[in-house]
Amino acid sequence: MTSEIASVSLPDGERVPALGQGTWEMGEAPARRAAEIAALRCGVELGMTLIDTAEMYGDGATETLLGEALAGLRDQVFLVSKVYPHNASRRGVIAACEQSLKRLKTDRLDLYLLHWRGSVPLAETVQAFEALRAAGKIRHWGVSNFDTDDMEELVAVPGGDACATNQILYNVARRGPEFDLLPWLARRKMPTMAYSPVDHARLPKRSPLDDIADARGVSVFQVALAWVLRKPGVCAIPKAGRVEHVRDNHRASQLRLSAEEQAALDAYFKPPRSKRPLEML
Ligand code: NAP
Repeated sequence: MTSEIASVSLPDGERVPALGQGTWEMGEAPARRAAEIAALRCGVELGMTLIDTAEMYGDGATETLLGEALAGLRDQVFLVSKVYPHNASRRGVIAACEQSLKRLKTDRLDLYLLHWRGSVPLAETVQAFEALRAAGKIRHWGVSNFDTDDMEELVAVPGGDACATNQILYNVARRGPEFDLLPWLARRKMPTMAYSPVDHARLPKRSPLDDIADARGVSVFQVALAWVLRKPGVCAIPKAGRVEHVRDNHRASQLRLSAEEQAALDAYFKPPRSKRPLEML
């Protein structure tokens, strides 16, 4: 099963699945808890073993849910969490990471991201990430919501070029990063981690996505996800709180859009022809 999902390479050559799972808004409602745990476990079984979370989500409740969901599965998973910008100081990162590890019931993160850029100097955050890496608490580090100029600044600070990825808002309805950020990351051999790949379930009510979905007998969500996954070097982390949605997303990883279908999407969701500032959810 796992061989069905394509993979992307981190700069050091380690491969991670191109299709993973997000967790934002999980662990917040007791009534949904069992379904969310089942969904996450099902995704891991299907090979969607890249799992993204953050200390911010549910004020830690999401990491706690994930710790429970990954019982017995931790070693199969590439686990990603994120530190708040206000915790991104030399000491703050270390303390925040310890708390995340405790909630996640694990001894290491595979990837630790700065959630977005704040006021702590990047050099200080990088130093803290590197200290965590030396201590074996994290295996890689990266950033999120960094635009091209932020990336330029990051790689200019000592150790900044060890960044493994940039997690950004990218989907068929938010194509701005195609103009300069995706090519910049590709040149650096850093994969792009696309968050909200189905636009947080807010895709337009009627668009060519529907025509393609109807013709193929799949859902609009699956078409949108297949569209993100079409690009080499891009991985997607859809959040699905139900097993049916996880299964659908897994099937979307096998969907290849034709040149005609992509052209129809380009005509409606126009690719950028000039710089657009990076959007954030
Ligand atoms: P998303 O994955 O684009 O959309 C999630 C929504 O789509 C949920 O309502 C989900 O419903 C629904 N959905 C997913 N697959 C579906 C399917 N096959 N059929 C029907 N509905 C489906 O949005 P997101 O949660 O904003 O983004 C994904 C992940 O990226 C987050 O969970 C988080 O881990 C990460 N993220 C990071 C940042 C950042 O600043 N770094 C920002 C936003 C998100 P159900 O839950 O009911 O299945």
